[in-house]
Amino acid sequence: MAGIAPNVVLSPEVAQLAESIIDLRRTFHQWPELGFQEQRTSALVAERLRALGIEVRTGVAQTGVLGVLRGEGEGKSVLLRADMDGLPLEEASGVPYASQNHGVMHACGHDGHTAILLTVARVLAQCRQQFSGTVKFVFQPAEELPPGGAKAMIEEGVLENPRVDAAFGLHLWNGLPVGKIGVDNGPIMASVDRFDIVIKGVGSHGAYPHTGVDPIVVGSHVVAALQTVVSREVPPLAPVVVTVGTFQGGTAFNVIPSQAELSGTVRTIDARIREEMPARLERIVRGVTSGMRAEFSFNYAFGYPVTVNDVNRAQFARRVAGAIVGDANVVSAGMTMGAEDMSYFLEAVPGCYLRLGSGNPDKGLIHPHHSALFNFDEAALPIGVELLAQLTLAYLSGQE
Ligand SMILES: [Zn+2]
Ligand SMILES: [Zn+2]
Repeated sequence: MAGIAPNVVLSPEVAQLAESIIDLRRTFHQWPELGFQEQRTSALVAERLRALGIEVRTGVAQTGVLGVLRGEGEGKSVLLRADMDGLPLEEASGVPYASQNHGVMHACGHDGHTAILLTVARVLAQCRQQFSGTVKFVFQPAEELPPGGAKAMIEEGVLENPRVDAAFGLHLWNGLPVGKIGVDNGPIMASVDRFDIVIKGVGSHGAYPHTGVDPIVVGSHVVAALQTVVSREVPPLAPVVVTVGTFQGGTAFNVIPSQAELSGTVRTIDARIREEMPARLERIVRGVTSGMRAEFSFNYAFGYPVTVNDVNRAQFARRVAGAIVGDANVVSAGMTMGAEDMSYFLEAVPGCYLRLGSGNPDKGLIHPHHSALFNFDEAALPIGVELLAQLTLAYLSGQE
């Protein structure tokens, strides 16, 4: 269709919806809601799905919505997923449709994901006589808020009745220009875990450090020593990040406090290395604190797993994407140490998570996701609709 990108081929059904997708996205954009608080968003999603004659289940994982569309006959079952939540951020993009819910912003593009998936539902509902099998539309809460909405929706049965055979989803991606689609095999995003450490020293006067045990000095050595897990303990070719994000302690310049609190995150793409991380970190914390006469407590919580694309499903997605944007525009978006709870769906069902190019330097759309200046090129929206609709139709007709 003219006006999108010269390389893009949209079906007439999708091309004629291009403006309505943008309207829908802007509606969601103006009213972003935080994780597990997506009442307005999910109410609109449910209302639109019902109007299409799609079977709807609401209140799944609190604010999640499941739509079930059955084709003409028996067949396979495909899950399509969108996330609906915004971020606790004051929007500074300056767009006329900016957030009216102050302090909350759709700064990751989930407004676009929700608009895309609702429009896919519309397109597929119109042609339900032309396919067999079932499509499940999963609108999940709280992707940005671990433990997240995906795991909770799975626990509430969205993968059953009928059992899901394949899962697809996409993320708008400003790191790729609009008109390109990123498809990668295997691990594409990292796992995300959290650790919390309390260093317990003995408080004293700042002038008489020998009468106490300084948890700030001990904590500083802990921060530095933790980095040796990455630099000295895991293979250099295995990506691992250990970041201490908070370090709090003390109330006055001349007082040695009695404790300091640290928290941080671990990112990996290797499940075995990930399993070993709690013990590695705790050993270092124990060694440093005991060597320096302090005590400690240590807590490690596993968050989202590694997001892994099935190799065959990625190959299939590459073919479908190539027919829409041209093979030369189906590219690798690379691996990132960011994380996604789409990983839970892909852990349970072979599938593929795609990155949909949405950056456009010519329009100043260069700001990264999670920035208060974030915005994306809306020309990506109909491409996303075409992509998920074609993947579904091709999969259900056995073209995998
Ligand atoms: Zn995000
Ligand atoms: Zn996101």
